[in-house]
Amino acid sequence: MKIPALLLLWVLVLPLRAAEELRKFAFEKAEMGLPFRVSVYAADEAAARAGADAAFARIAELNAVMSDYDSDSELSRLSRTTGGAVPVSTALWKVLAHAQTVAERSGGAFDITVGPLVNVWRRARRTQTLPDAALLAEMRARVGYKKLRLDPEHRTAELLAPEMRLDLGAIAKGFACDEALAVLKQRGLPRALVGGSGDMAAGDAPPDQPGWRIEVAPLDAPDAPPPQIVYLKNCGIATSGDVFQRVEIAGQRYSHIVDPRTGLGLTDHSLVTIIAPDGMTADALSTAVSVLGPELGLKLVEETPGTAAHLVRKPAGKIQFLESARWRDVPRATR
Ligand code: ADP
Ligand code: MG
Repeated sequence: MKIPALLLLWVLVLPLRAAEELRKFAFEKAEMGLPFRVSVYAADEAAARAGADAAFARIAELNAVMSDYDSDSELSRLSRTTGGAVPVSTALWKVLAHAQTVAERSGGAFDITVGPLVNVWRRARRTQTLPDAALLAEMRARVGYKKLRLDPEHRTAELLAPEMRLDLGAIAKGFACDEALAVLKQRGLPRALVGGSGDMAAGDAPPDQPGWRIEVAPLDAPDAPPPQIVYLKNCGIATSGDVFQRVEIAGQRYSHIVDPRTGLGLTDHSLVTIIAPDGMTADALSTAVSVLGPELGLKLVEETPGTAAHLVRKPAGKIQFLESARWRDVPRATR
């Protein structure tokens, strides 16, 4: 009698002890030209480090596929083709297919063929001069999501206009976070958070917490109120806006986000934060909503299942906050 009773007690107590013994570890590494951070609960440092290394390796692998800076990446090679279906890898296919769905649903406000225009605005930032109208017109002829044709049956992509340039800057980071999180989960480390500046993917909650405590990016205005803190698990969060990267020419601020429909860098001073079922959806949607503006942007969010938006704007010098209906259901911390 004595031994089974003890055994029973041991079996009951074991899961509690296992949860208690998880400790938090954090690792940081530059990937995709940005600091990526992996936070993970594990029984010991060796397991956490091995998981983080594998997660970073996955991000590096995806960068080799999706970078537009690396002329050898699968994306860059695809960008150099014109007319003719090109088979694409599974990872690239997932991102291209998702991008085209968001492009369609946002009426072309989100558009990964925006590369030629992004380049023009990158140059404008370097030289501090606005691009001229003729150059913008020339580049706009190379841009448009309908000029990228995907064939789901054969998993091929085809560029229909010459000198196109695909740019996954507004979607690949979110996808990389999702993939890194999946790697950690496969290794038995589901309580994890992966983030690269502005984009994050959260797994299971930390032990004894409702979720990962995350500060919603604040607006860099002196009169901005303190940022909200939310608890997130098993979802993605992304912030997009002109706070992190911008160029100022003749007193006007131009964002690194371009409106593909006009060819111009956004001038609206805003920050858009999206929570979505995964990081890729949050990343793409935050950029789409930035381009669409508050009215059409919030409409798109309300129409997209499982997504919520928080917008901070400063039209005519006055701070304005907007939230989608689902944002009100996001668990909040009171600091
Ligand atoms: P961040 O780079 O600050 O995380 P985003 O996720 O909004 O912000 O991505 C912005 C990047 O996406 C730009 O640097 C550019 O590479 C690309 N991009 C710019 N405008 C668009 C657009 N309208 N649709 C899709 N991608 C865009
Ligand atoms: Mg984005």
